[in-house]
Amino acid sequence: MAEKISLNADRSLKVPHHPIIPFVIGDGIGPDIWRAAVRVFDQAVSHVYGDERAVAWKEVLAGEKAYNETGSWLPEETTQAFRDYLVGIKGPLTTPVGGGIRSLNVALRKALDLYVCLRPTKWYPGTPTPVLHPEYIDMVIFRENTEDIYVGVEYASASEESKRLQQFLNNDLKLDYDFRANTGLGVKVVSEEGTKRLVRAAIQYALEQNRPSVTIVHKGNIMKYTEGAFKNWAYQLAEEEFGDQVYTWDQWEKTKAEKGQEEANKKQREAQDAGKLIVKDVIADNFLQQILLAPRDYSVVATLNLNGDYVSDALAAIVGGIGIAPGANINYQTGHAIFEATHGTAPRFADTDTMNPSSVILSGVLLFEYLGWDDVATTITEALAKTIKGKTVTVDFYNQMENATLLKTSEFADQIIANF
Ligand code: NAD
Repeated sequence: MAEKISLNADRSLKVPHHPIIPFVIGDGIGPDIWRAAVRVFDQAVSHVYGDERAVAWKEVLAGEKAYNETGSWLPEETTQAFRDYLVGIKGPLTTPVGGGIRSLNVALRKALDLYVCLRPTKWYPGTPTPVLHPEYIDMVIFRENTEDIYVGVEYASASEESKRLQQFLNNDLKLDYDFRANTGLGVKVVSEEGTKRLVRAAIQYALEQNRPSVTIVHKGNIMKYTEGAFKNWAYQLAEEEFGDQVYTWDQWEKTKAEKGQEEANKKQREAQDAGKLIVKDVIADNFLQQILLAPRDYSVVATLNLNGDYVSDALAAIVGGIGIAPGANINYQTGHAIFEATHGTAPRFADTDTMNPSSVILSGVLLFEYLGWDDVATTITEALAKTIKGKTVTVDFYNQMENATLLKTSEFADQIIANF
């Protein structure tokens, strides 16, 4: 009997053996890659659990398919299904041009308050890469998903709103800035509550997974009360809520000021030797250098929405591109989670059965990990790794590899299943 996933009193997930999981098939290449991915999921579950467990996939509509069938890009029933069933997965969706909808993805994240965008990035041997040591990359990005400039408070240049805001800034807040005639304005929104729940999730994850560090990536040197505050709140939370499980660079600075650098270094070494989680920070522009120059220094990363957008794409490029980059949007308080490929609909390739389904497949891996079905996750990851290592790949990788075998999307799924 298929049943809903629910939440236990301690907020952990209660996952039945036959959970109902809503999915959106997606637009463009969505149907091709979903059909391939779902076969991999079902076969992996059956490989690990036999008849004992199976996912009851429940299709819900969003995007073009929803618009054509219902006249709405994101029908309320779809949002409600993700709300009711807690955990879901989606393919890429066309962003409607014009009209009131900024992005369907953003709308869903907002409706369910999915404040963590989780993007693990690691390299699978054999994957084409522009760098010499892609194996040094093993990072998990926690990108804040509800604030920052994505709130969408923006006023067009020369609009009445922009002019009024300029006047308010100069007259009421005594800014005294000489705005040029045609100036658009945007507002950056960062709160203590929003920061702390994101950083809490990142630290908890790092502790559970025995990761060595959490790095706060910010541009606080320039944006002091938004990105700088993000950093300060992050350190504050780490010390207040995680006490002696962590050692922070903020503590290092304090020890240095009081007792000198040598003592600060000694304290940090002691903390590391005691297996404590190191919480540190890096300025965003420097971080984009660091992921190329010293990637082994970074493990879990906690950052704001826009930085997270840039950083996760840069990291994805290093380990094989968006065809293989998974993602999840999660609210750890309510349990709601939507897993998704991070790329778009690549409409030119719709129905060609040629694109790489790895991004959806690895998003499914995250989903199974989230359910606690770790053996299923491992089965898929190992078979995918074997498939890439065996140079049996889709066109995006094929074009960059020597002596590879070109597979269609569906054949790539067959090969993964054969490699279980
Ligand atoms: P895109 O990610 O769809 O495609 C860019 C290019 O990346 C493609 O031309 C293709 O060469 C490559 N690519 C993408 N997915 C691939 C895969 N699975 N395998 C191999 N190569 C792949 O970006 P776009 O063309 O800028 O956007 C197209 C549409 O998708 C737009 O409507 C956009 O708004 C939407 N979009 C949706 C999401 C989402 O639903 N999460 C994300 C980004 C863009």
